Amino acid sequence: MATIAFIGLGNMGGPMAENLLKAKHQVRVFDLMPELVNTLAKNGAIASKSAIEASKDCDVVISMLPAGKHVASLYLGKQGLLTQLTSSTLVIDCSTIDAETARSVHAACTEQNIDMIDAPVSGGVAAASAGSLTFMCGGHTRAFERAKPVLADMGVNIFLAGPDGAGQVAKMCNNMLLAIHMIGTSEALNLGTRNGLDASVLSEIMLASSGKNWSLERYNPYPNVMPTSPASNEYQPGFMVDLMAKDLGLAIDNASANNSATPLGKLALDMYLQKQQQGDGKRDFSSIIELLQ
Ligand code: NAD
Repeated sequence: MATIAFIGLGNMGGPMAENLLKAKHQVRVFDLMPELVNTLAKNGAIASKSAIEASKDCDVVISMLPAGKHVASLYLGKQGLLTQLTSSTLVIDCSTIDAETARSVHAACTEQNIDMIDAPVSGGVAAASAGSLTFMCGGHTRAFERAKPVLADMGVNIFLAGPDGAGQVAKMCNNMLLAIHMIGTSEALNLGTRNGLDASVLSEIMLASSGKNWSLERYNPYPNVMPTSPASNEYQPGFMVDLMAKDLGLAIDNASANNSATPLGKLALDMYLQKQQQGDGKRDFSSIIELLQ
């Protein structure tokens, strides 16, 4: 079993660290919010006063932070964690951040002979709790093989997407596509119901036809078609509008830096920003159907 420093114990990091404890790792935890550290400590984790204290002589550092600036400030610079780690430590950043920042942390790790993978996740809070996350990893095969057993204690699907930063690229592509098919599904259901069709009947027809997709099959945005979907529960998240807007922002920034055409991704971002401006940032992302109604 490994000694693991876990930095960032929010909605995702907290349950991920719990699963590492269940797998009998020694887990040292740190978050800027002491109450989150205390909750994990009650369940067997070792509370640390700083990221540096948590990471001292550990085998693996895992971070699960909000955005690229938090990840850069944790690892890089004169006060950064990398100055304190030995080359035997494996760094796994599970945050969803821009690929460029991920690559700059990789480069700093390489300079110090430290193995690193970027490993953003898909699955949300429910999958983090259930230990059924999907990890999309970027980095060297050696680092990936070292990380796999630890990731397997928190998830079920573990992919090596490619070299440094490739996990972040895979994640942003997936979530851009998710936003687009959620909006497309919402448009089709709205058009059909405006024409008098029953949303459940139309969903059943499209599920057996070429319009079938994940949003329709697993996360129907129309209320009361699927009892378990956020749409049938007043759009309680689930996956928040705020997080979808963040992920689409990463994709569109990347697309403009790469001169890559993403007209539908841009439109999806505009729609999610509009939803945020309406005060719906904390509601589920499938509530985008309300913009059409
Ligand atoms: P969160 O805001 O609940 O948690 C982030 C935690 O990081 C907070 O507790 C904060 O105090 C802590 N933190 C920030 N800077 C820190 C620092 N320097 N040192 C220590 N702790 C620090 O966010 P979350 O929902 O857990 O998401 C984490 C990441 O996972 C994000 O990048 C998000 O995009 C991604 N993600 C979230 C979901 C989801 O459904 N919530 C799904 C997939 C991916």
